[in-house]
Amino acid sequence: MRPLHARYPFFAAAREAVESADVAIAALIAEDAPAVERGVERVERALMEGTVEPDDPYAWDTQEELLSYPIARILVSLIETPAAVDKYARAEADTAYERMVDDFGANGDGVEGEARASFDEVLQEFDLDGAVRTERQESRHRAPDHYWVDVGPYLTYSDPDWGDEWRLVNRALADGAVRVARKELYSILREATRRRVSEGLPFAVRGSDAGDQLAAALDSHVQRIRNLLSDRGAINAVYADSVEPDLFPPCISALLERTQDGESLPNEAAFSLAAFLVGVGLDPEEVGSVVGDASAEALETRATVLADSSGSQFAPPSCETMQAYDLCVNRDDRCDTIAHPMAYYETAMEDAE
Ligand code: SF4
Repeated sequence: MRPLHARYPFFAAAREAVESADVAIAALIAEDAPAVERGVERVERALMEGTVEPDDPYAWDTQEELLSYPIARILVSLIETPAAVDKYARAEADTAYERMVDDFGANGDGVEGEARASFDEVLQEFDLDGAVRTERQESRHRAPDHYWVDVGPYLTYSDPDWGDEWRLVNRALADGAVRVARKELYSILREATRRRVSEGLPFAVRGSDAGDQLAAALDSHVQRIRNLLSDRGAINAVYADSVEPDLFPPCISALLERTQDGESLPNEAAFSLAAFLVGVGLDPEEVGSVVGDASAEALETRATVLADSSGSQFAPPSCETMQAYDLCVNRDDRCDTIAHPMAYYETAMEDAE
């Protein structure tokens, strides 16, 4: 296990190092080893503070730091809140971004050279080495200011919601490549990292003897993280005086219909619907009354938890997350103008007024 793996645990080589190491994650969890404590810290800091940097950078050795990553993924899966996965992946990506900026600038922030990732290494990690070219510049003694990125990867890893300047029509284009500033290229690498971390999350931990044992061994940590989340106050009830189901976004209307057809919604769908309904100002009892009977009790219970909690962790999922969960359906014209189901509702309400 190399220090570089601990610094970038989502690298393919880091995963291979974990797989080939003579260490069983299940055994570490069973004995509540230091890597578990660091894994818990990793998730807590991600959800509460948006970073996975350790509080004390000298508290953990390379192996503990690296092994804390797969343990954190198990914990995030056990929390069973789609918004937690999203927040966790963003925190991993934001932390990696800071580290990359340090490493590429060779500032290192006290980090030994062997722990640093080179620019080429990171490009190769995301199969971008053939897709990114340096713009020629006068001085060869400083990092380039601009790069050219092939259109395909540019469109894959950038998002027009980052600002108009990211739209292709506002970009210099030549020979199938888009011109980007250095900082913008780093943003693309951050997005590639976020997607890498999100891949496969959440996964089913329970369902086998071994999985059930893992879940049982981590239960106190999972409960603690859940309690931390629920300590954060109440979601703002934005539209408490006037809730208009006819103006709900199509994805939410579709979920409502599914409950009214008697379907018992799976976890992510139930969370998304309950979080939206609480977000627009329905109290838990009202949530239970607008959904179908088969889901009423379960959604009322979820709404009670959500109404007692707060923070972006329990905000209704964004359109991106809804898409990731295959819950973005029946899109209409308004969907092209917003990035969040709450924004859909807000603009629909404004237009109706
Ligand atoms: S784009 Fe957003 S608001 Fe529209 S259907 Fe998809 S998830 Fe819902």
